[in-house]
Amino acid sequence: MLATNLGIRLPSVEQKLSVDWRNPNGAEFWVKRDDLIHPIISGNKWRKLHGALCRAEQAGITEFVSFGGGYSNHLHALGYVCFQAGWHLNVIIRGDYRANPTPMLQDLHRWGAQIHYVTKATYQRRNDGDYVQHLRQQYPEAMIIPEGGSSPDALAGVAEIVNELTQSFDMLLLPVASGGTLAGLASNPKCPALRAIAVLKGENYLESLVSQLAPASATDWQILHDFHHGGYAKTSAELMDFVTDPQISPSIPLEPVYSGKLFFAARQLCEAGYFPVNSRILLLHTGGLQGQRK
Ligand SMILES: *Cc1c(COP(=O)(O)O)cnc(C)c1O
Repeated sequence: MLATNLGIRLPSVEQKLSVDWRNPNGAEFWVKRDDLIHPIISGNKWRKLHGALCRAEQAGITEFVSFGGGYSNHLHALGYVCFQAGWHLNVIIRGDYRANPTPMLQDLHRWGAQIHYVTKATYQRRNDGDYVQHLRQQYPEAMIIPEGGSSPDALAGVAEIVNELTQSFDMLLLPVASGGTLAGLASNPKCPALRAIAVLKGENYLESLVSQLAPASATDWQILHDFHHGGYAKTSAELMDFVTDPQISPSIPLEPVYSGKLFFAARQLCEAGYFPVNSRILLLHTGGLQGQRK
């Protein structure tokens, strides 16, 4: 119901890419365009949110609380859904942007969200039992959605991506930040081997997060840590050049935080002969283009 009213377009398309990269092993590249699911609601955030939001809709819940930074794709997606559905949203933002709200925060404001700025120290406590309990008292009617939309329903929503595939692939490449998307894919036994590109510095930490989320029987998955360009939302001159001209066709919009790092890694791995001979590689474009606005 919600998905129809919002104009969500699923399944997302699988598109063949031709790449102008050195390709010693003749790998073939495809991209799953989750960036095209909706013009405003970011792809993987819809995948992660829709289960919880459908439950909320059925239960008649009309108020939400969630968390994020000043550029959060998750809050942007949730903010738009709440605006369209006429639901009340309270967001807790890490840091004080009152003097200089980001485009994301300006959108949230326009969409009627109640914005609360908190210090980094308070934000750190977002998953602590006593803090969450306090929020429950403050917003007794609300559904509290964790940062990034990673609620318990999120894994099943993400796993749907695999059920939509119309062809077989040897490997699926995706960006990883909180690990929810990777864990969701890994929980689908039909998923091809997963290689996740860490967009932040998180060696060991990310692995343990995903291991906690994904079932022990999960698909073969691995996180590659050499492509974060200095950390979350950090870039390099090379990466900025690459996102403006990734040497792929058809041309696909990329931003430097997630999809740019993913495609950049794919090119480097391709040129280094990482992909098996004649393998079929699927890149998951998770969306997120709003986050690059200044
Ligand atoms: C949030 C986000 C990710 C990271 O997903 P996780 O489940 O947190 O690992 C990747 N791509 C985009 C566009 C995102 O907004």
